[in-house]
Amino acid sequence: MSTFRFQALKETANRKLIAVEKLEKKSKIFGSNVFNDKAMRQFLTPEAYKAVQNAVQNGAKIDRVIADQIAMGMKEWALSKDVTHYTHWFQPLTGNTAEKHDAFFETSFDGSDPVEKFGGSQLVQQEPDASSFPNGGIRNTFEARGYTAWDPTSPAFIYGTTLCIPTIFVSYTGEALDNKTPLLRALQAIDSAATDVAKYFDKNVRKVTPTLGWEQEYFLIDRSLANTRPDLLATGRTLLGHASAKGQQLDDHYFGSIPSRVLNYMRDLENECMLLGIPVKTRHNEVAPSQFELAPIFEEINLAVDHNSLLMDVMQKVAERHDYKVLFHEKPFKGVNGSGKHNNWSLATDTGINLLSPGKTPMSNLQFLTFFINTIKAVHDYEELLRAAIASASNDHRLGANEAPPAIISVFIGQQLTKVLAELEGVTKGKLSPEEKTDLKLNVVGKIPDVLLDNTDRNRTSPFAFTGNKFEFRAVGSSANCATSMTTLNAIVAKQLKDFKEEVDALIAKKDLKKDEAIFNVLREYIKQTKSILFEGDGYSEAWEKEAKKRGLSNFKTTPEALKAKVSKKAIDLFEELAIMNHVEVEARYEIELEEYTKKIQIEGRVLGDIARNHVVPTAIRYQNTLIENVKGLKEIFGKDFEKIAKQQISLIKEISEHIEGINAKVDAMTEERKKANNLSDISKMAAAYCDKVKPYFEEIRYHSDKLELLVDDEMWTLVKYRELLFLR
Ligand code: ADP
Ligand code: MG
Repeated sequence: MSTFRFQALKETANRKLIAVEKLEKKSKIFGSNVFNDKAMRQFLTPEAYKAVQNAVQNGAKIDRVIADQIAMGMKEWALSKDVTHYTHWFQPLTGNTAEKHDAFFETSFDGSDPVEKFGGSQLVQQEPDASSFPNGGIRNTFEARGYTAWDPTSPAFIYGTTLCIPTIFVSYTGEALDNKTPLLRALQAIDSAATDVAKYFDKNVRKVTPTLGWEQEYFLIDRSLANTRPDLLATGRTLLGHASAKGQQLDDHYFGSIPSRVLNYMRDLENECMLLGIPVKTRHNEVAPSQFELAPIFEEINLAVDHNSLLMDVMQKVAERHDYKVLFHEKPFKGVNGSGKHNNWSLATDTGINLLSPGKTPMSNLQFLTFFINTIKAVHDYEELLRAAIASASNDHRLGANEAPPAIISVFIGQQLTKVLAELEGVTKGKLSPEEKTDLKLNVVGKIPDVLLDNTDRNRTSPFAFTGNKFEFRAVGSSANCATSMTTLNAIVAKQLKDFKEEVDALIAKKDLKKDEAIFNVLREYIKQTKSILFEGDGYSEAWEKEAKKRGLSNFKTTPEALKAKVSKKAIDLFEELAIMNHVEVEARYEIELEEYTKKIQIEGRVLGDIARNHVVPTAIRYQNTLIENVKGLKEIFGKDFEKIAKQQISLIKEISEHIEGINAKVDAMTEERKKANNLSDISKMAAAYCDKVKPYFEEIRYHSDKLELLVDDEMWTLVKYRELLFLR
């Protein structure tokens, strides 16, 4: 009997509910482990408090003396909460978060004067030994060192007994080595571009901030079961496993009653989130068995991105307490739905207006249409770059797999707004007559809020959908760091708004148009130019693939193909123009992502070869041997009649041999292709080889293994099966 598997099954069956600490009301405890406004007022001098506010709101620099004061206040606050260590918390290009803890504790070299210390210099800047983080050659060509620097726009927080200070991570020559720095730069770009445009409508707008509400999907699998699967442990997904007879056919999991053990996990997690100031709000079962979702109230984007990264870490830690493992992989199981991370995105002004929400007056609706149409134009012009921003080895399994948005980027806006755009397309060129203006204001622009209120249009197959007061970027992968997609989205919209402003101003200056006339004129042209990106139909259908091709939209199904857009001249020009990344930073990221892709497929190939040869084949042989023994015995007893009696067994023996042979042949061939790929020196060629030559063997090997799983005695099978992984909880 296969002991490890059955021991795990037994452990899972005997699980007890883990009690969840009952905390005070959410509104009471929210953010109590965050150095937020309330804590700052209490622990900072008025001068230091003002300096932080000024840095957050206006990007002002903080001088050394004040930094010392802030550090002192932060330390006092942290010590009052039994904190012993501090760390700069950052997001290197691995996609994860990184931290290195130092104790507050210090003494003189002779051991005298022990004291808790934390000064401005430790708060503001650190130099982690960063040589092992991916840098795409940046630190080879420039300086060898990197440093982390405090980002005051994301408040410090306490996790466990450590004070975590969100930081950026840059090289000594200033190149960004992380995901946060380009995001912050993109936020500056869109703030300045969007504020300029918003001023057409309201002179008082001084700042525009993008907002983000992510929806995190994940699988929750019993830890003992997950531990028996080398593929889950090493790659985050199952490389083998026959489909369970019951999967998600009955749709009985989606929004169903949450299993008790899972619910306790969620409650525990929510407690942690409340303390950390992560405003989680929604929890529910997702479509696939053992798949769930968690969504917060939306926040300012930099904070929302940090919160998602932090959450993913916390989710795994809380899962340990409840004997679960969280799977963030976009496609952990074949045959059931994968996971995404919808990024709900909008733009908010410091005057409290959501720029993607229709208002009450024609003017505010024209403002809405301006931002709405400019976003569509941005996606239209940069669809390839947006596709590249969500490319990863794991998300390749999801995009275009007939259950998630396709690899083709398009925008869904709903019937009513489609109609509004059609009417705006008919706006007269140049000056508008007073009648036309009135008609537009009353009958087109003026009607929008009513139109949207009863707009229940939802299109779940669209990668980028307008949902009433925000866009939902649905193609983002569940394991992704939101910074990548959000940097790109904000960059392309910033660029678009900048161009828009120039065009409108030119019309006002040269053609003597009124502001609203100029805006109508430019928007009309955009509507004409961007039709190819709008799609309201079924994004999963084959017809759409054909149609999209006709329209000239890209359809990159694999990461190596999709990523190329990142280093196109158009992309580099965009990032350089907006001072978000220079070409070195862009190229470095491209290289890092190709490397990551290659390594992931390489690891999958190795793990698959290993499991197939060391688990599946030996198990199949063992079972085959019992069959052979059986046939031999039958022969002894029945003599010449045995062939008829042992017919089934004999054909099984042959069938097993064929699959063993299949596995061996394919694993050999795959290994050969890996060797060839490894000899390539160009990283883009290597990634392509892994994609086109190595990866196709995965399905072939899996085919034989999954067949064997159905043939071999259940008691002998060593790998925990799909029906166990997905249904025991
Ligand atoms: P759904 O029907 O898709 O669940 P919801 O309106 O409940 O839609 O919102 C889903 C997510 O969108 C939530 O995380 C929410 O916080 C976020 N969201 C709502 N409004 C905005 C906004 N203006 N900007 C960014 N995110 C938003
Ligand atoms: Mg949603």
